Amino acid sequence: MAVHETGTPGDSSYVEVDGETCSGHALCWMAAPGVYPMDEEGYNALRGKGRVPVADSDLEPARRGAAACPERAIEVVAKATTAA
Ligand code: SF4
Repeated sequence: MAVHETGTPGDSSYVEVDGETCSGHALCWMAAPGVYPMDEEGYNALRGKGRVPVADSDLEPARRGAAACPERAIEVVAKATTAA
């Protein structure tokens, strides 16, 4: 898992699921089903989809799901809240 608190003010927070690394444990979904949907094969449905915006209110569950991933396949990037 990688969690960053960087970015340009005004950018959206996002999650990104590595399509090569995700191997279908579904632990992200168990930890945060509202953020990480599963596809019909049991993989994270966001894998390989690039940066998927998430609401700031979903950042905590997004982090929980990323922390639960044994493959470290999920990156969570929170938008900057203050100007650099
Ligand atoms: S826990 Fe990790 S490896 Fe498993 S489905 Fe979720 S993103 Fe993929």
